[in-house]
Amino acid sequence: MNREADFIVVGAGTAGCAAAEALTRNGRTRVVLVEAGERPSSPFVAIPAGFAKLFRSRFDWAYSSEPDPITQRSVFIPRGRMLGGSAGLNAQIHQWGYPSDYDEWAEAGCAGWSWSDVAPTLRDLEACAEAAPLRGAKGPLAAATLASPHPLTTAFQRAACVDGQPPSYNGSASEGAWISEVTHRDGRRFSVWDGLLKPALKRHNLQTVTSAIATSIVFESGRATGLRIVRNGWEETLAARRGVLVCAGAFGSPQLLMLSGIGPADHLKAHGITVVRDLPGVGENLHDHPMACPTFATRRRDTLKAAESPANLIRYILARKGALASNVAEAIAFRRSAPGVAAPDIELLFAPVEWRGEGLLPPRQHAFTIAAILLRPHSRGRVTLRDGNPQSSPRIDLGLLSDPNGSDRQTMTAAIQLARSIAGRTPLSLDTTGELGPGAADLSDWLDREIQTVYHPGGTCRMGVDDSAVVTPSLAVRGVGGLWVADASIMPRLVSGHPNLTVAMIGQRAASLAAIGAPAG
Ligand SMILES: Cc1cc2nc3c(=O)[nH]c(=O)nc-3n(C[C@H](O)[C@H](O)[C@H](O)COP(=O)(O)OP(=O)(O)OC[C@H]3O[C@@H](n4cnc5c(N)ncnc54)[C@H](O)[C@@H]3O)c2cc1C
Repeated sequence: MNREADFIVVGAGTAGCAAAEALTRNGRTRVVLVEAGERPSSPFVAIPAGFAKLFRSRFDWAYSSEPDPITQRSVFIPRGRMLGGSAGLNAQIHQWGYPSDYDEWAEAGCAGWSWSDVAPTLRDLEACAEAAPLRGAKGPLAAATLASPHPLTTAFQRAACVDGQPPSYNGSASEGAWISEVTHRDGRRFSVWDGLLKPALKRHNLQTVTSAIATSIVFESGRATGLRIVRNGWEETLAARRGVLVCAGAFGSPQLLMLSGIGPADHLKAHGITVVRDLPGVGENLHDHPMACPTFATRRRDTLKAAESPANLIRYILARKGALASNVAEAIAFRRSAPGVAAPDIELLFAPVEWRGEGLLPPRQHAFTIAAILLRPHSRGRVTLRDGNPQSSPRIDLGLLSDPNGSDRQTMTAAIQLARSIAGRTPLSLDTTGELGPGAADLSDWLDREIQTVYHPGGTCRMGVDDSAVVTPSLAVRGVGGLWVADASIMPRLVSGHPNLTVAMIGQRAASLAAIGAPAG
């Protein structure tokens, strides 16, 4: 097998699939895409409601956060490990982010990342059954409306909607409530794997190397020229004539940079790693959208607790509809925490099922969940090395609700009260029989026991123009040549919502930035 490439892309997740597809589109640029996981062969990847069944499977890195210093609690952190990455086990919500999210990046010095700069790529990536005619879009990523929203979901949407809200939450920063737009086609998950990577694999200039863990980047004279991998116990070095794009995600990318000698010098030396470039920002600025899940009992007997009933199985097999075609997080609402706040900073996510034990435990009873989410958290954590072994998981300090003035905890409390008040409004209240959690528990104690994230980690290889930035606005790693990072880790601040499409946009734009940065010789 000839593995000499122009570019090596590390990680076939949302960004890596988009980058590899875009780099090889000309039929000439040779790309080797290295992925630790395998092809997404499990039926639970394709069946929308099955994603939580992939948690702790071989398709999941299944990280745990370091215990919180006060409560000693670890939070479960699923991350996709397959061609398609986390887009193969995500909840499939399709969202653009607010225009102001990107304008903020540009205002912080990241030229070329304003809303008007990125919107054309977001639109190009979209394809859609119902939504495309609305927005005139056509592209490889599906954005469809949900096949069969549950009656409780439509009741939630009606209870939480706002007069005059636009027909879609995409394209503006409006308050309101909507049925989720999803990356589905014909009632099945349709991710970056289906829409971008699978078709591109027909190209002779794209090769994937699966079940391969990238262990370090090879540098010659301050320039990335290759990648060391371990595959089936064997070590191998791959050469890259023009450079390496690291798309290993918010945890994998800082880990690989640090293992390769790029990161905080003292930390690297403590693990016996030779410093190639002292970049103190690598692994810093970790943030995610914190989520707490109030649950409510319902008199209905058709929640997703019964998703695997024979009737639902038959309905899905014959028509690709019903409970198994649900993405679980079926509706979405956005609100401002206070009147003066510029854009919605609270999200409520509705699921017609009891979301229990961070999605790891089956529902006990028929119930629904109104998850409360902070879209602009102030708290920050960090990713560091546990040791110098590339096969060890990194140390992940999530720092949830840890901001010194307590404003995240305060906003979360307001979000939970909002969830409660919507559960008490008609028509949703007609089917509600009581609150299961937090119930009578002290809210702050309950948050300590229950807080998790909505699985959107980012920021750990921050793009910027200051000294602690890791990559420049061209996504090039500062101070070395031929090396780019492109994935959720580069976002200076997370977009206000579900980031998958944004991350695909980052991957696609990285392809042109790398091609310009390292022109064919
Ligand atoms: C459970 C869950 C639900 C979510 N729901 C939604 C949603 O509904 N909507 C939405 O917009 N977003 C959602 N997200 C978030 C979204 O999927 C992610 O933000 C996005 O997929 C991140 O893309 P990425 O390219 O940064 O990383 P990933 O997609 O995680 O890709 C990283 C890839 O790199 C590989 N890798 C890592 N380290 C190495 C190494 N050393 N060697 C080789 N390969 C390596 C990994 O195996 C993986 O395939 C969800 C995520 C999860 C986990």
